[in-house]
Amino acid sequence: MIKSNNDDNMPIVLGILGGGQLAKMLALEAYKMGLNIAIIEKTAQSPAGEITQNEFPAGWDDKSELEKFIQASDIVTLENEFIDPEILAQIEKKRTVFPSSKTISLIQDKFIQKETFKSHGINLPNYAKLDNTAEAKEFAENNSFPIVIKTRKYGYDGYGNFTARNHGDIEKAFQKFHDGEIRPLLGESFVDFECELAVMVVRSSNGEQACYPCVETIQENHICHKVIAPAGISKEIRNKAQNIALECVRAIDGVGVFGVELFLTKQGDLLVNEIAPRPHNSGHYTIEACHTSQFENAIRGLLGLPLGSCQMRTGVAVMINLLGKKEGNGVPQDVRGLLSHPKVKLHLYNKKSSRIGRKMGHITLTGDNIEDVLKEINLAYDSLVW
Ligand code: ADP
Repeated sequence: MIKSNNDDNMPIVLGILGGGQLAKMLALEAYKMGLNIAIIEKTAQSPAGEITQNEFPAGWDDKSELEKFIQASDIVTLENEFIDPEILAQIEKKRTVFPSSKTISLIQDKFIQKETFKSHGINLPNYAKLDNTAEAKEFAENNSFPIVIKTRKYGYDGYGNFTARNHGDIEKAFQKFHDGEIRPLLGESFVDFECELAVMVVRSSNGEQACYPCVETIQENHICHKVIAPAGISKEIRNKAQNIALECVRAIDGVGVFGVELFLTKQGDLLVNEIAPRPHNSGHYTIEACHTSQFENAIRGLLGLPLGSCQMRTGVAVMINLLGKKEGNGVPQDVRGLLSHPKVKLHLYNKKSSRIGRKMGHITLTGDNIEDVLKEINLAYDSLVW
């Protein structure tokens, strides 16, 4: 049993800021390893909140709720990068927090994140902060249309992105993102990529670090739809992507697991898109396909335990997200067709309501041959009744 620092008879309580599917999968792994968990989220019965008695549903903006959560936790981590680093710094006065407030303050704002990576010599798409439409038009002139206009903070699943193809689109983007409150924006050159890649990195509080194989991610409408592991590109480019990802995590002094997203350009260059300081959708396949899942390694890393092997124990794996198809009840109504493919693994997150494109679950299939695995997982996916 992994014992609490506070009480030798009790298991360590891992406090997780956020109660979504990433927290749930992390919690399930924590239980397997003999830990207990605490969840703070701004609603009750979140996917992770409903599987623990240590649920703090008033959220971290409520000071007394946050204090109760801190008291219930031995060590604290997070499942999204949107928490204010100042709140993390407050928690750090009482508990160890990984990733740290410093790490989050280096990446939460995508402009600061890019400046950080640039100062470490990491290649990125061209970018600039855009404080007004004149700056955006100048950026577009220097980089040529299209450009991608992004909110500097709080974007996810493409909700903070707008591809501008002309001056009219720039006006539209500023109207969209400046509706009510002013949201700081960033401009990025549009990358005409060959494919998108991702690498999960785990870095322990004891300094040990490792990375998972580079995977290909396929997005639809800026949301991850499918992940193919390992990416079907040359070993040389895979290794290069993995080294860049390790460098990104060192640049922000990260502890825990991190998802590094990259573009492979048509010219064969690798450009970093962004980093996520937490378990990542592109690493869900590791549950079935690797010796140690991203969730288990996150816990090992946070606790300073030896890391587990990141190697795949199957030749290939494919993961497909189950994205909500409507408002309201968005889970598949009948999964019998899917389960008649006996090697396909189903994960449903138990979210209380759905939206179009919301991540409601995922499926994974492992095997030896990518064509066979793709064929079967696509058939399984198509047999879901929504
Ligand atoms: P989020 O933080 O919301 O996930 P990202 O910045 O990762 O947003 O963008 C989501 C997707 O949008 C990317 O995976 C990619 O498909 C597309 N995208 C983002 N930036 C660019 C870019 N500069 N050029 C081309 N496509 C992009």
